[in-house]
Amino acid sequence: MVGQAVVALAGVTKRYANGTLAVRGVDLVVGQGDFVSLLGPSGCGKSTVLRMMAGLIPPSSGRIEMAGGSATGDVGFVFQEPTLAPWSNALRNVMLPLRLAGVAKAEAEQRAAAALASVGLAGFEKSYPRGLSGGMKMRVSIARALVTKPRLLLMDEPFAALDEITRHKLNNDLLTLWEAERFTAIFVTHSVFESVYLSRRIVVMAARPGRVVEDLPVDAPYPRGEVFRTSADYAAHCRDISAALTRAME
Ligand code: ADP
Repeated sequence: MVGQAVVALAGVTKRYANGTLAVRGVDLVVGQGDFVSLLGPSGCGKSTVLRMMAGLIPPSSGRIEMAGGSATGDVGFVFQEPTLAPWSNALRNVMLPLRLAGVAKAEAEQRAAAALASVGLAGFEKSYPRGLSGGMKMRVSIARALVTKPRLLLMDEPFAALDEITRHKLNNDLLTLWEAERFTAIFVTHSVFESVYLSRRIVVMAARPGRVVEDLPVDAPYPRGEVFRTSADYAAHCRDISAALTRAME
């Protein structure tokens, strides 16, 4: 069930210091528990919208409201690169947000170990990033974003650099985590297939200037799995979303 608004953008425009108008007039409300993809061609302002939602950059005009204020512990962020500290093992990387929030070491260790287990990395606590595959590093990065139990998880093309099989596995595991932990997910991608597989709703964006052009539901039940991925229903949704993306790029 999708509940009350977790984040609401009203008339949001962002112009960077160099004069680039990245997005103009974005209105977007995302409800508690939803899984929403921002889909669009490169340069249409997807990352800009995500970074404004995270409070990493301010809008030039318009309003962004977060439910319950904007306590930073309430938002987790996963970047395209895993961005792990190479000198720290997996456990210490995942502990970092907790330690920064003042959580005692023993409790942080225990919670970080649980977060690593939740992404399938039990037993890899002592591994350093250089000893982990790309997919495993991304799992550590997701564990680090979820260790504070955020209400909202923002992801910026997290799986774009991974091979297809690893990407499918991470898609499945992300949905399992989302269903278990009930966070709200906003996922940036330029992949039609990935957005349809994951999302309950797809917000299609166009470029020059970046703006929202369509907002489409993906009416298919969860849990989703390989049966959905190979179904006629999935193919039909992909066709519809692909057509919307083509319209956005015209
Ligand atoms: P997307 O995520 O859809 O690829 P971005 O939000 O990264 O799009 O970029 C939107 C537009 O803003 C692009 O034209 C990009 O070049 C520009 N842009 C992004 N970040 C900056 C920045 N820090 N300074 C100036 N221009 C930027």
